[in-house]
Amino acid sequence: MNRYWSAVAHELLPYVPGEQPALDNLVKLNTNENPYAPSPKALAAIRDAAEGSLRLYPDPDAKALKAALASRYKVSPEQVFVGNGSDEVLAHAFIGLLKHEHPLWMPDVTYGFYPAYCRLYGIEYRQIPLDGDFALRPEDYLPRGEERAGAILFPNPNAPTGRLLPLADVERIVAANPQAAVLIDEAYIDFADEPDKASAIALAGRYPNLLVVHTFSKSRSLAGLRIGFAIGHPDLVAGLERIKNSFNSYPLDRLALAGAVASVKDEPWFQTNRRKVIASRAALTAQLRALGFEVLPSAANFIFVRHPAADAQELAAQLRECAILVRHFKAPRTAQFLRVTIGDDSQCAALIHALRDILGMAGQAKE
Ligand SMILES: *Cc1c(COP(=O)(O)O)cnc(C)c1O
Repeated sequence: MNRYWSAVAHELLPYVPGEQPALDNLVKLNTNENPYAPSPKALAAIRDAAEGSLRLYPDPDAKALKAALASRYKVSPEQVFVGNGSDEVLAHAFIGLLKHEHPLWMPDVTYGFYPAYCRLYGIEYRQIPLDGDFALRPEDYLPRGEERAGAILFPNPNAPTGRLLPLADVERIVAANPQAAVLIDEAYIDFADEPDKASAIALAGRYPNLLVVHTFSKSRSLAGLRIGFAIGHPDLVAGLERIKNSFNSYPLDRLALAGAVASVKDEPWFQTNRRKVIASRAALTAQLRALGFEVLPSAANFIFVRHPAADAQELAAQLRECAILVRHFKAPRTAQFLRVTIGDDSQCAALIHALRDILGMAGQAKE
Protein backbone atom coordinates (compact mmCIF):
# COMPACT_ATOMS: atom_id res chain seq x y z
CA MET A 1 0.00 0.00 0.00
CA ASN A 2 1.30 3.40 -0.95
CA ARG A 3 -0.38 6.75 -1.34
CA TYR A 4 1.05 7.21 -4.82
CA TRP A 5 -0.59 4.03 -6.07
CA SER A 6 -3.67 4.50 -8.20
CA ALA A 7 -6.97 2.91 -7.16
CA VAL A 8 -6.33 0.36 -9.92
CA ALA A 9 -2.98 -0.68 -8.42
CA HIS A 10 -4.57 -0.90 -4.95
CA GLU A 11 -7.34 -3.19 -5.99
CA LEU A 12 -5.43 -5.76 -8.05
CA LEU A 13 -4.81 -9.33 -6.92
CA PRO A 14 -1.79 -10.22 -9.06
CA TYR A 15 -1.08 -13.76 -10.28
CA VAL A 16 1.74 -15.48 -8.39
CA PRO A 17 3.98 -17.56 -10.70
CA GLY A 18 5.67 -20.73 -9.48
CA GLU A 19 8.94 -19.96 -7.75
CA GLN A 20 12.26 -19.87 -9.63
CA PRO A 21 14.83 -20.34 -6.86
CA ALA A 22 18.50 -19.91 -7.78
CA LEU A 23 19.61 -23.22 -6.30
CA ASP A 24 21.76 -25.87 -7.94
CA ASN A 25 20.62 -29.50 -8.09
CA LEU A 26 17.00 -28.58 -7.67
CA VAL A 27 14.51 -30.98 -9.24
CA LYS A 28 12.21 -28.32 -10.63
CA LEU A 29 8.79 -29.77 -11.41
CA ASN A 30 6.71 -26.72 -10.48
CA THR A 31 6.33 -24.51 -13.57
CA ASN A 32 5.82 -26.90 -16.49
CA GLU A 33 9.09 -26.05 -18.18
CA ASN A 34 10.37 -28.59 -20.69
CA PRO A 35 13.24 -30.72 -19.31
CA TYR A 36 14.91 -30.87 -22.72
CA ALA A 37 16.96 -28.15 -24.42
CA PRO A 38 15.52 -25.99 -27.20
CA SER A 39 16.37 -26.80 -30.81
CA PRO A 40 20.12 -26.28 -31.44
CA LYS A 41 19.06 -24.51 -34.65
CA ALA A 42 17.09 -22.01 -32.57
CA LEU A 43 20.10 -21.42 -30.32
CA ALA A 44 22.34 -20.93 -33.35
CA ALA A 45 19.87 -18.46 -34.87
CA ILE A 46 19.78 -16.50 -31.61
CA ARG A 47 23.59 -16.35 -31.53
CA ASP A 48 23.65 -15.16 -35.15
CA ALA A 49 21.06 -12.49 -34.38
CA ALA A 50 23.14 -11.20 -31.47
CA GLU A 51 25.29 -8.98 -33.68
CA GLY A 52 25.31 -5.49 -35.12
CA SER A 53 21.66 -5.33 -36.06
CA LEU A 54 20.67 -5.30 -32.39
CA ARG A 55 21.08 -1.51 -32.61
CA LEU A 56 18.02 -1.55 -34.87
CA TYR A 57 14.44 -2.10 -33.76
CA PRO A 58 12.97 -5.49 -34.65
CA ASP A 59 10.22 -5.93 -37.27
CA PRO A 60 7.10 -4.59 -35.54
CA ASP A 61 4.92 -6.95 -37.60
CA ALA A 62 7.05 -10.06 -37.01
CA LYS A 63 6.43 -10.98 -40.66
CA ALA A 64 9.01 -13.79 -40.83
CA LEU A 65 7.61 -15.49 -37.72
CA LYS A 66 4.00 -15.14 -38.87
CA ALA A 67 4.94 -16.64 -42.23
CA ALA A 68 6.71 -19.57 -40.57
CA LEU A 69 3.75 -20.25 -38.27
CA ALA A 70 1.25 -19.86 -41.12
CA SER A 71 3.11 -22.44 -43.14
CA ARG A 72 3.50 -24.85 -40.17
CA TYR A 73 -0.22 -24.67 -39.29
CA LYS A 74 -1.55 -24.35 -42.86
CA VAL A 75 -3.29 -21.00 -42.33
CA SER A 76 -2.72 -17.58 -43.87
CA PRO A 77 -0.37 -15.04 -42.22
CA GLU A 78 -3.39 -12.76 -41.63
CA GLN A 79 -4.71 -15.43 -39.26
CA VAL A 80 -1.61 -15.28 -37.05
CA PHE A 81 -0.92 -12.97 -34.11
CA VAL A 82 2.30 -13.11 -32.06
CA GLY A 83 3.20 -11.71 -28.65
CA ASN A 84 5.68 -11.63 -25.81
CA GLY A 85 4.68 -14.96 -24.33
CA SER A 86 1.16 -16.26 -24.62
CA ASP A 87 0.39 -14.40 -21.39
CA GLU A 88 0.70 -11.19 -23.39
CA VAL A 89 -1.40 -12.60 -26.23
CA LEU A 90 -4.03 -13.53 -23.64
CA ALA A 91 -3.83 -10.08 -22.03
CA HIS A 92 -4.52 -8.40 -25.38
CA ALA A 93 -7.38 -10.82 -26.02
CA PHE A 94 -8.95 -10.05 -22.63
CA ILE A 95 -9.18 -6.34 -23.36
CA GLY A 96 -9.69 -6.68 -27.12
CA LEU A 97 -12.05 -9.64 -27.47
CA LEU A 98 -13.31 -10.88 -24.10
CA LYS A 99 -14.63 -7.69 -22.45
CA HIS A 100 -18.32 -7.26 -23.20
CA GLU A 101 -21.60 -6.42 -21.52
CA HIS A 102 -22.37 -10.07 -20.82
CA PRO A 103 -19.86 -11.86 -18.56
CA LEU A 104 -16.93 -13.94 -19.73
CA TRP A 105 -17.50 -17.65 -19.03
CA MET A 106 -14.63 -19.86 -17.88
CA PRO A 107 -14.25 -23.04 -15.80
CA ASP A 108 -14.00 -22.82 -12.00
CA VAL A 109 -10.76 -24.79 -12.01
CA THR A 110 -8.48 -23.19 -14.58
CA TYR A 111 -5.37 -21.10 -15.24
CA GLY A 112 -4.97 -18.68 -12.33
CA PHE A 113 -3.98 -15.80 -14.55
CA TYR A 114 -7.47 -15.44 -16.05
CA PRO A 115 -9.12 -13.88 -12.97
CA ALA A 116 -6.08 -11.63 -12.57
CA TYR A 117 -6.61 -10.22 -16.08
CA CYS A 118 -10.33 -9.81 -15.40
CA ARG A 119 -9.53 -7.68 -12.38
CA LEU A 120 -6.90 -5.68 -14.28
CA TYR A 121 -9.30 -4.88 -17.11
CA GLY A 122 -12.55 -4.74 -15.14
CA ILE A 123 -14.11 -7.72 -16.90
CA GLU A 124 -17.08 -9.43 -15.33
CA TYR A 125 -16.71 -13.20 -15.36
CA ARG A 126 -18.59 -16.27 -14.36
CA GLN A 127 -16.89 -19.50 -13.37
CA ILE A 128 -18.68 -22.67 -14.44
CA PRO A 129 -17.94 -25.72 -12.27
CA LEU A 130 -16.19 -28.68 -13.89
CA ASP A 131 -17.82 -32.03 -13.11
CA GLY A 132 -16.72 -34.27 -10.23
CA ASP A 133 -13.89 -35.73 -12.31
CA PHE A 134 -12.71 -32.24 -13.34
CA ALA A 135 -14.04 -32.67 -16.87
CA LEU A 136 -15.56 -29.71 -18.72
CA ARG A 137 -19.19 -30.37 -19.70
CA PRO A 138 -19.84 -28.76 -23.10
CA GLU A 139 -23.57 -28.49 -22.38
CA ASP A 140 -22.76 -26.00 -19.59
CA TYR A 141 -21.41 -23.63 -22.24
CA LEU A 142 -24.48 -23.48 -24.48
CA PRO A 143 -26.70 -20.37 -24.34
CA ARG A 144 -29.80 -20.88 -22.19
CA GLY A 145 -32.65 -18.49 -23.02
CA GLU A 146 -31.55 -15.01 -21.96
CA GLU A 147 -28.40 -16.36 -20.35
CA ARG A 148 -25.54 -16.10 -22.79
CA ALA A 149 -21.81 -15.61 -22.61
CA GLY A 150 -20.19 -12.31 -23.62
CA ALA A 151 -17.16 -14.47 -24.42
CA ILE A 152 -15.86 -17.92 -23.52
CA LEU A 153 -12.37 -18.95 -22.45
CA PHE A 154 -10.83 -22.24 -21.38
CA PRO A 155 -7.48 -23.99 -21.68
CA ASN A 156 -7.41 -27.27 -23.57
CA PRO A 157 -5.90 -29.40 -22.11
CA ASN A 158 -7.12 -27.62 -18.99
CA ALA A 159 -4.67 -26.28 -16.43
CA PRO A 160 -3.92 -27.42 -13.79
CA THR A 161 -5.88 -30.64 -14.40
CA GLY A 162 -4.33 -31.73 -17.71
CA ARG A 163 -7.70 -33.01 -18.97
CA LEU A 164 -8.35 -32.78 -22.70
CA LEU A 165 -11.73 -31.90 -24.17
CA PRO A 166 -12.29 -33.74 -27.48
CA LEU A 167 -12.28 -31.47 -30.53
CA ALA A 168 -15.90 -32.35 -31.36
CA ASP A 169 -16.96 -30.91 -27.97
CA VAL A 170 -14.85 -27.80 -28.50
CA GLU A 171 -16.55 -27.33 -31.86
CA ARG A 172 -19.98 -27.74 -30.28
CA ILE A 173 -19.24 -24.83 -27.93
CA VAL A 174 -17.82 -22.64 -30.69
CA ALA A 175 -20.72 -23.35 -33.05
CA ALA A 176 -23.42 -22.81 -30.40
CA ASN A 177 -22.09 -19.36 -29.41
CA PRO A 178 -21.87 -17.22 -32.56
CA GLN A 179 -22.54 -14.16 -30.34
CA ALA A 180 -19.31 -14.71 -28.39
CA ALA A 181 -15.61 -14.91 -29.10
CA VAL A 182 -14.39 -18.32 -27.92
CA LEU A 183 -10.74 -18.43 -26.91
CA ILE A 184 -9.06 -21.84 -26.51
CA ASP A 185 -5.74 -21.63 -24.66
CA GLU A 186 -3.80 -24.57 -26.07
CA ALA A 187 -0.57 -24.02 -24.12
CA TYR A 188 -0.23 -27.81 -23.67
CA ILE A 189 -1.92 -29.26 -26.76
CA ASP A 190 1.40 -30.43 -28.27
CA PHE A 191 1.55 -33.05 -25.50
CA ALA A 192 -1.71 -34.64 -26.63
CA ASP A 193 -1.13 -37.95 -28.39
CA GLU A 194 -2.27 -36.47 -31.71
CA PRO A 195 -2.07 -32.68 -31.50
CA ASP A 196 -3.19 -32.12 -35.08
CA LYS A 197 -6.45 -33.96 -34.38
CA ALA A 198 -6.93 -32.39 -30.93
CA SER A 199 -6.16 -28.75 -31.73
CA ALA A 200 -8.92 -26.29 -32.56
CA ILE A 201 -6.57 -24.75 -35.12
CA ALA A 202 -8.21 -27.27 -37.48
CA LEU A 203 -11.43 -25.20 -37.09
CA ALA A 204 -9.79 -21.79 -37.40
CA GLY A 205 -10.84 -21.12 -40.97
CA ARG A 206 -14.47 -22.03 -40.37
CA TYR A 207 -15.56 -19.98 -37.36
CA PRO A 208 -15.29 -16.19 -37.20
CA ASN A 209 -15.53 -16.31 -33.37
CA LEU A 210 -12.68 -18.77 -32.66
CA LEU A 211 -9.21 -17.82 -31.42
CA VAL A 212 -6.63 -20.46 -30.48
CA VAL A 213 -3.62 -19.44 -28.38
CA HIS A 214 -0.32 -21.34 -28.24
CA THR A 215 3.05 -20.82 -26.58
CA PHE A 216 6.69 -21.70 -27.27
CA SER A 217 7.27 -22.00 -23.51
CA LYS A 218 6.30 -25.61 -23.01
CA SER A 219 6.56 -27.88 -26.05
CA ARG A 220 9.34 -25.84 -27.70
CA SER A 221 11.46 -25.46 -24.56
CA LEU A 222 11.67 -21.68 -24.94
CA ALA A 223 10.02 -20.33 -21.78
CA GLY A 224 12.97 -17.99 -21.35
CA LEU A 225 12.55 -16.39 -24.77
CA ARG A 226 8.90 -15.33 -24.26
CA ILE A 227 6.97 -16.15 -27.43
CA GLY A 228 3.28 -16.86 -27.79
CA PHE A 229 0.91 -16.77 -30.73
CA ALA A 230 -2.73 -16.95 -31.66
CA ILE A 231 -4.47 -18.33 -34.74
CA GLY A 232 -7.99 -17.32 -35.68
CA HIS A 233 -10.14 -15.39 -38.10
CA PRO A 234 -8.28 -12.41 -39.67
CA ASP A 235 -10.83 -10.00 -38.12
CA LEU A 236 -10.07 -11.30 -34.61
CA VAL A 237 -6.35 -10.98 -35.34
CA ALA A 238 -6.93 -7.41 -36.56
CA GLY A 239 -8.61 -6.62 -33.22
CA LEU A 240 -5.60 -7.95 -31.35
CA GLU A 241 -3.26 -5.89 -33.55
CA ARG A 242 -5.17 -2.74 -32.57
CA ILE A 243 -4.54 -3.50 -28.89
CA LYS A 244 -0.90 -4.46 -29.46
CA ASN A 245 -0.22 -1.29 -31.44
CA SER A 246 -1.72 0.76 -28.63
CA PHE A 247 0.54 -0.91 -26.08
CA ASN A 248 3.96 -1.95 -27.45
CA SER A 249 5.07 -1.83 -31.08
CA TYR A 250 7.94 -4.28 -30.53
CA PRO A 251 6.86 -7.03 -28.15
CA LEU A 252 9.22 -9.58 -29.74
CA ASP A 253 12.88 -8.64 -29.87
CA ARG A 254 15.32 -9.64 -32.61
CA LEU A 255 16.70 -12.60 -30.65
CA ALA A 256 13.22 -13.96 -29.92
CA LEU A 257 12.10 -13.57 -33.54
CA ALA A 258 15.19 -15.35 -34.88
CA GLY A 259 14.97 -18.17 -32.33
CA ALA A 260 11.25 -18.64 -32.84
CA VAL A 261 11.49 -18.92 -36.62
CA ALA A 262 14.29 -21.49 -36.38
CA SER A 263 12.36 -23.44 -33.74
CA VAL A 264 9.23 -23.67 -35.89
CA LYS A 265 11.32 -24.93 -38.79
CA ASP A 266 12.97 -27.68 -36.73
CA GLU A 267 10.06 -30.11 -36.77
CA PRO A 268 12.12 -33.27 -35.98
CA TRP A 269 13.48 -31.75 -32.74
CA PHE A 270 9.99 -30.72 -31.69
CA GLN A 271 8.51 -34.16 -32.41
CA THR A 272 11.31 -36.02 -30.62
CA ASN A 273 10.98 -34.00 -27.44
CA ARG A 274 7.21 -34.02 -27.25
CA ARG A 275 7.26 -37.81 -27.66
CA LYS A 276 9.85 -38.18 -24.88
CA VAL A 277 7.64 -36.15 -22.53
CA ILE A 278 4.56 -38.19 -23.46
CA ALA A 279 6.44 -41.46 -22.77
CA SER A 280 7.69 -40.17 -19.40
CA ARG A 281 4.16 -39.04 -18.52
CA ALA A 282 2.87 -42.60 -19.02
CA ALA A 283 5.70 -44.09 -16.97
CA LEU A 284 5.40 -41.58 -14.12
CA THR A 285 1.62 -41.99 -14.03
CA ALA A 286 1.99 -45.77 -13.62
CA GLN A 287 4.63 -45.39 -10.89
CA LEU A 288 2.56 -42.87 -8.94
CA ARG A 289 -0.54 -45.06 -9.19
CA ALA A 290 1.53 -47.92 -7.79
CA LEU A 291 2.30 -45.67 -4.80
CA GLY A 292 -1.43 -45.16 -4.24
CA PHE A 293 -1.82 -41.81 -5.99
CA GLU A 294 -4.91 -40.86 -7.92
CA VAL A 295 -3.68 -39.37 -11.22
CA LEU A 296 -6.08 -37.49 -13.49
CA PRO A 297 -5.76 -38.44 -17.18
CA SER A 298 -3.41 -35.86 -18.70
CA ALA A 299 -2.72 -34.65 -22.24
CA ALA A 300 -0.22 -32.07 -20.93
CA ASN A 301 3.40 -32.02 -19.74
CA PHE A 302 2.21 -32.26 -16.15
CA ILE A 303 -0.04 -34.48 -14.09
CA PHE A 304 -2.50 -33.54 -11.36
CA VAL A 305 -2.34 -36.01 -8.50
CA ARG A 306 -3.56 -36.66 -4.98
CA HIS A 307 -2.81 -39.28 -2.37
CA PRO A 308 -5.64 -40.47 -0.14
CA ALA A 309 -3.37 -40.70 2.90
CA ALA A 310 -1.22 -37.57 2.52
CA ASP A 311 -2.07 -33.88 2.80
CA ALA A 312 -1.01 -32.21 -0.45
CA GLN A 313 0.47 -29.07 1.08
CA GLU A 314 2.46 -31.12 3.58
CA LEU A 315 3.66 -33.42 0.83
CA ALA A 316 4.83 -30.42 -1.22
CA ALA A 317 6.76 -29.14 1.82
CA GLN A 318 8.33 -32.57 2.40
CA LEU A 319 9.36 -32.81 -1.25
CA ARG A 320 10.85 -29.34 -1.00
CA GLU A 321 13.09 -30.60 1.80
CA CYS A 322 14.33 -33.20 -0.70
CA ALA A 323 15.06 -30.33 -3.15
CA ILE A 324 12.07 -31.27 -5.33
CA LEU A 325 9.62 -28.53 -6.26
CA VAL A 326 6.04 -29.27 -7.30
CA ARG A 327 3.08 -26.87 -7.45
CA HIS A 328 0.34 -26.72 -4.83
CA PHE A 329 -2.71 -24.48 -5.24
CA LYS A 330 -4.78 -23.43 -2.26
CA ALA A 331 -8.15 -23.15 -4.03
CA PRO A 332 -10.85 -25.21 -2.25
CA ARG A 333 -11.53 -27.81 -4.96
CA THR A 334 -7.88 -28.49 -5.68
CA ALA A 335 -6.20 -28.06 -2.28
CA GLN A 336 -5.55 -31.81 -1.96
CA PHE A 337 -3.85 -32.04 -5.36
CA LEU A 338 -0.32 -31.44 -6.53
CA ARG A 339 0.59 -30.44 -10.05
CA VAL A 340 3.75 -32.24 -11.10
CA THR A 341 5.65 -31.27 -14.24
CA ILE A 342 6.97 -34.17 -16.30
CA GLY A 343 10.74 -34.05 -15.95
CA ASP A 344 13.45 -36.10 -17.62
CA ASP A 345 14.13 -39.68 -16.51
CA SER A 346 16.45 -38.76 -13.64
CA GLN A 347 14.04 -36.10 -12.32
CA CYS A 348 11.11 -38.52 -12.43
CA ALA A 349 13.23 -41.15 -10.65
CA ALA A 350 14.23 -38.64 -7.95
CA LEU A 351 10.57 -37.79 -7.41
CA ILE A 352 9.51 -41.42 -7.05
CA HIS A 353 12.44 -42.16 -4.75
CA ALA A 354 11.56 -39.23 -2.47
CA LEU A 355 7.85 -40.09 -2.44
CA ARG A 356 8.62 -43.71 -1.47
CA ASP A 357 10.61 -42.42 1.51
CA ILE A 358 8.03 -39.83 2.51
CA LEU A 359 5.12 -42.25 2.27
CA GLY A 360 7.03 -44.84 4.29
CA MET A 361 7.28 -47.29 1.45
CA ALA A 362 11.05 -47.25 1.29
CA GLY A 363 11.41 -51.02 1.76
CA GLN A 364 8.42 -52.01 -0.32
CA ALA A 365 8.39 -53.93 -3.57
CA LYS A 366 10.66 -52.48 -6.19
CA GLU A 367 9.52 -53.13 -9.74
C1 LIG B 1 2.22 -21.56 -19.24
C2 LIG B 1 0.83 -21.12 -19.63
C3 LIG B 1 0.62 -19.96 -20.36
C4 LIG B 1 1.69 -18.91 -20.52
O1 LIG B 1 2.68 -19.20 -21.31
P1 LIG B 1 3.76 -18.11 -21.73
O2 LIG B 1 3.76 -18.20 -23.20
O3 LIG B 1 5.02 -18.57 -21.09
O4 LIG B 1 3.32 -16.76 -21.26
C5 LIG B 1 -0.64 -19.67 -20.82
N1 LIG B 1 -1.69 -20.46 -20.53
C6 LIG B 1 -1.54 -21.55 -19.78
C7 LIG B 1 -2.73 -22.38 -19.46
C8 LIG B 1 -0.28 -21.90 -19.30
O5 LIG B 1 -0.13 -22.95 -18.50
